[in-house]
Amino acid sequence: MSWKTLDDMNLDGKTVLTRVDINVPVQDGQVSDDTRIRRIVPTVRDILAKGGKPVLVAHFGRPKGKPVPEMSLQVTLPALEAALGQPVRFAGDDFKTAVEALAPGEVLLLENIRFFPGEEKNDPALARELAGLADIYCNDAFSAAHRAHASTEGVAHLLPSCAGRSMAAELRALEAALGNPARPVVAVVGGAKVSTKLDLLSHLIRKVDKLVIGGGMANTFLAAQGLDVAKSLCEHDLADTAREILAEAEATGCEIIVPGDVVVAEAFAANAPHDTVAATEVPAGSMILDAGPDTVDRIIAAFGTAQTLIWNGPLGAFEIEPFDRATNAAARAAADMTEAGSLVSVAGGGDTVSALNRAGVAERFTYISTAGGAFLEWMEGRDLPGVAALRQAK
Ligand code: ADP
Ligand code: MG
Repeated sequence: MSWKTLDDMNLDGKTVLTRVDINVPVQDGQVSDDTRIRRIVPTVRDILAKGGKPVLVAHFGRPKGKPVPEMSLQVTLPALEAALGQPVRFAGDDFKTAVEALAPGEVLLLENIRFFPGEEKNDPALARELAGLADIYCNDAFSAAHRAHASTEGVAHLLPSCAGRSMAAELRALEAALGNPARPVVAVVGGAKVSTKLDLLSHLIRKVDKLVIGGGMANTFLAAQGLDVAKSLCEHDLADTAREILAEAEATGCEIIVPGDVVVAEAFAANAPHDTVAATEVPAGSMILDAGPDTVDRIIAAFGTAQTLIWNGPLGAFEIEPFDRATNAAARAAADMTEAGSLVSVAGGGDTVSALNRAGVAERFTYISTAGGAFLEWMEGRDLPGVAALRQAK
């Protein structure tokens, strides 16, 4: 790895500006899901254990460069203190004075960095101001690494910089899945639309050995091959693009798996009357809402021949029963193979994470990324500015 971790730094007596993602959901003035807060605990504790003084910098909501009281990070303090098991100081505006007053063993949280117009503009002046607060920069916010902002990118060039524990774990998992994976690699791309995942598909057919196309986007591929998908979600205007992707996959030797049998219904509703039919026999007036059992068998067989699985997007309309069946069955098979040691499984994406949680397998995959946009951009083969800056750091 060409970036440093906390292990490579001497933190004793040093102030460590630590970029974290604690952009958590809040209901009635209280943090309603503290997952992101719990994730930063190892990094903060490590910095303290090595004699460093952690100064946490983060964003919260979209205040668009000006102070918005409802978007103060102060609301996260009780949850942060509970997770860390110690008091946390808060700096509302005068960051410099608050940092200077910080004693060894204490933790400081800075106010929402997006209150400053320079943050999202990656203004060098704000980056310099942030760098002036600390001796070392530590980035533990992979989920914000796809944005080149002052606190995620600019400041990394101005201080000795390293990745925090969560960031390092995420980068290692992603490297094992796509950077330098054990082959064969199978990818699953599902979800609603082809249009949102074009870059993803084009990148993956050059990187993986087999690509499963599922969910609503599979309908566009079926239609592009001349099948009638009736009322299914389908982007007919992308038929040419879909054919180009199939031709390119053929040229690069990437095997494509699209559903051969499908579950159809006349309504997008839980327990709507449904039927399993060949993809060539979709009845007029109905829509494809899930992959059928034969397709699921083929997908699981593909997992069986692979060493590495990378997954984004559910195979069907997983939010409504029984159209979650293909997603659940494939997810369980992948989890079993992971536990048996025959598969490295990495998944990510907003709906994918909820689908895998619903299937009860989230803890049984090798790694599940909750990073959303950053995960997708990484899967598309983009260099994330926040990660690139760590690599280039002095
Ligand atoms: P992610 O957030 O993991 O990247 P997407 O947002 O691309 O995933 O896709 C998830 C959505 O795709 C879900 O809301 C699901 O209902 C929808 N979906 C999957 N298959 C179908 C289908 N056959 N028809 C309509 N919607 C579908
Ligand atoms: Mg989504």
